[in-house]
Amino acid sequence: MKVLVINCGSSSLKYQVLNMEDESLLCKGLVERIGIEGSVLTHEKIGQDKWKLEVPMKDHKDAIGHVLKALVDPDHGIAKSMDEIGAVGHRVVHGGEKFACSVKITDEVVKALEDCVALAPLHNPPNLLGIQACKELMPTTPMVGVFDTAFHQTMPAESYLYALPYEYYEKYAVRRYGFHGTSHRYVTERAAAMLGKKPEDLKIITCHLGNGASVAAVKNGKCFDTSMGLTPLEGLVMGTRCGDIDPAILPFIAEKEGKSFADMDKVMNKQSGVLGISGVSSDFRDVENAANEGNERAKAALDVYAHRVKHYIGAYIAEMNGVDAIVFTAGLGENSKTMRASICSGLENLGIKLDPARNDVRGKETVVSAEDSKVKVLLIPTNEELMIAKDTYEIVTK
Ligand code: ADP
Repeated sequence: MKVLVINCGSSSLKYQVLNMEDESLLCKGLVERIGIEGSVLTHEKIGQDKWKLEVPMKDHKDAIGHVLKALVDPDHGIAKSMDEIGAVGHRVVHGGEKFACSVKITDEVVKALEDCVALAPLHNPPNLLGIQACKELMPTTPMVGVFDTAFHQTMPAESYLYALPYEYYEKYAVRRYGFHGTSHRYVTERAAAMLGKKPEDLKIITCHLGNGASVAAVKNGKCFDTSMGLTPLEGLVMGTRCGDIDPAILPFIAEKEGKSFADMDKVMNKQSGVLGISGVSSDFRDVENAANEGNERAKAALDVYAHRVKHYIGAYIAEMNGVDAIVFTAGLGENSKTMRASICSGLENLGIKLDPARNDVRGKETVVSAEDSKVKVLLIPTNEELMIAKDTYEIVTK
């Protein structure tokens, strides 16, 4: 069976088609500027050059219509007809407390997702648009929702409750949810396979360090704690997000600068993090280059970043009473040997020791810790799309 995986953003969407017989990738692509002038679809059949289609796409249905045409295109397609696409897996950002695993999408599920919109106003609406568009364009193809929050639903109350009046949890579901769950789950499974053990027998700390970043404490295969909260703003320092700050800063700056809550939301989500401290960029490559050229603020940004990751690693070792493996994944985790080295430096007393030669590597599943490191440090490229396709295939063939 061929499975189409769709990840819809507000003005863009990413897709992949995988052949589930051997889990191979058949094609992937990206639609940008949906509903904006200059819409473009970039499609890549594996083994061929990229193919660009520049046509107006007024909404997500239009965009998905062009994706489906590309999939059956005689030159660039991967199927003779749409009948070969057996199922669609949708990435959904927020599943609230309702979804602790992936589910077949029904009208009831769509309703439950609409109820979660308040928790993820930027992310869930485009996810829902993608689901709706597929439903209209391929009404008989089964669809599955795979939630970023699902893996973290095993967190105990001590990890997910905020110390706020309990009524806010009861009335508005204000609690910690966590995100990047599909990635944390994927690398947990791969880490266990690399170590030749079952996830149930391991304590793992997974560090997903991309533009958005989060850490998870995975105890016996289940998420015990994670750094993101009600929204993806909490926790680590990120490209443009501040992560943990003293919440009293919010009214303090708002008052000093005459800013509204909406302004402050923008400051914390778009103008902070590594960009905010360095003033250089939200892209770590630019910030690392600037730091190497002697830019003190860029250096400070990277130091604060590494310090916060280290802080969480220490906390999670304490919460789990030990750790067997630490995993680095996503853009920065997979590619930056200097950031991995900076995070792991000074953790020798906790049994964590990198091997500089092994750590001199990018984007490859491998062990980067020293032979005598008590804790294994692993580099595992994440593959959220494969995880979504596997869940989708399993659910529709069950
Ligand atoms: P997203 O959250 O958008 O999926 P990614 O996982 O693709 O993000 O990660 C993007 C981040 O990874 C960017 O900030 C980028 O600077 C960083 N990154 C990618 N390659 C490298 C590299 N070679 N060195 C340092 N950082 C890198």
